Amino acid sequence: MKFTNSVKLYKKAVDLIPGGVNSPVRAFKSVNREAPIFVKKGEGCRIWDEDDNEYIDYICSWGPLILGHNHPKVIEEVKKIIENGSSYGLPTKYEVDLAELIVDIVPSIEKVRLTTSGTEATMSAVRLARAYTQRNKILKFEGCYHGHSDALLVKSGSGLLTDGYQDSNGITDGVLKDTLTLPFGDIEKVKKILENKDIACVIVEPIPANMGLIETHKEFLLELREITKKTETLLIFDEVISGFRLALGGAQEFFGITPDLTTLGKIIGGGYPVGAFGGKKEIMDLVAPVGRVYHAGTLSGNPIASKAGFATLTYLKENKSIYKDLEEKTKYLVKNIEILAKKYSVNICVNSIGSLFTIFFNDKKVENLEDSLKSNTENFSIYFNTMLENGVVVPPSQFEAHFLSMAHKQKDLDKTLEIIEKAFKNIGEKNGK
Ligand SMILES: *Cc1c(COP(=O)(O)O)cnc(C)c1O
Repeated sequence: MKFTNSVKLYKKAVDLIPGGVNSPVRAFKSVNREAPIFVKKGEGCRIWDEDDNEYIDYICSWGPLILGHNHPKVIEEVKKIIENGSSYGLPTKYEVDLAELIVDIVPSIEKVRLTTSGTEATMSAVRLARAYTQRNKILKFEGCYHGHSDALLVKSGSGLLTDGYQDSNGITDGVLKDTLTLPFGDIEKVKKILENKDIACVIVEPIPANMGLIETHKEFLLELREITKKTETLLIFDEVISGFRLALGGAQEFFGITPDLTTLGKIIGGGYPVGAFGGKKEIMDLVAPVGRVYHAGTLSGNPIASKAGFATLTYLKENKSIYKDLEEKTKYLVKNIEILAKKYSVNICVNSIGSLFTIFFNDKKVENLEDSLKSNTENFSIYFNTMLENGVVVPPSQFEAHFLSMAHKQKDLDKTLEIIEKAFKNIGEKNGK
């Protein structure tokens, strides 16, 4: 396999863009590669790079592409309006269509505001929670990622973990002081912190997927709901990944727990830039121009992105069996991965739910950030590189989840398992030495 064109592009990019990429994980830094692959095209569960190498893709744009790349239903809809113009700075029908569908499907959302990214959605939801409760402090969990706004970049997951740190530089002490953090799952400490009734909101990934995938105990979320209600703290479910993925109505439908506010992104844009935050009318009506919590955006509710999101959600709504199907495919992979790991004496812990899974190279059960950080990232790197060099792209970080799409078929899963066997064999041989 040759990577000449990608390497050339990367060398050029590094002089122009910090680290050569516009989002850190893309640099493939933690998996010991000279350069990332530069993607040219995607179709179904496959992508092609600038050297014309073909891969089965388990990144799927980090979640949006639950229908697979270039899904005809989505692309057809986009094509229909793309020649009408791009953006008007005035309302369009397509935003209303998407909002209607979101309100219809997501249990907790009575009103919704569209943004351009998940980051803006969580940032605005936190601002709204502060205004509504008239409290300043917020609580998040270690290793949960909620985008890159200042207040939420404390003990954060995703790309920060990949590069070996958890807090960003450039954030003021004042901001740091107002963001409290606790280990995911530690309900006793949550209860203690909320006792003072001075926390505006608890924000949580109901299925944490940005420190690798962590399995959620429903009991924890139920208790979180109860204690936040009791202390008049708002509960925000960050469903940027889990929304429309874990179930049509997201984690809140899956677990039967209704948060006060919900943030969405990824799938609701169908691969185009969209985010959203929503919740009870009473809270949402504090947002300008009704209330005085400011949120805006030149491209918020962009018609093309809204249309792509609408087409994606409509497809999911009309084909609910997708979720069962995705879960079965994931289970099939996970079951066989565990068998292969035994065969080659590779220590792993696979966490999975719905269409998401993470292979932790770890001999213990991974239940929170502390466990996750003990994973063997060298073994992960061998896994990643063996996969890539044999035509399968998995997330270039131990601290991310694999994403399945509807387009992954049985033969793709079996091909994937074949390569995983090679990877585990390589790891086993290295460890045997
Ligand atoms: C991806 C992600 C975000 C940020 O969304 P962007 O569109 O990348 O800004 C926020 N929360 C969670 C849980 C995410 O996975």
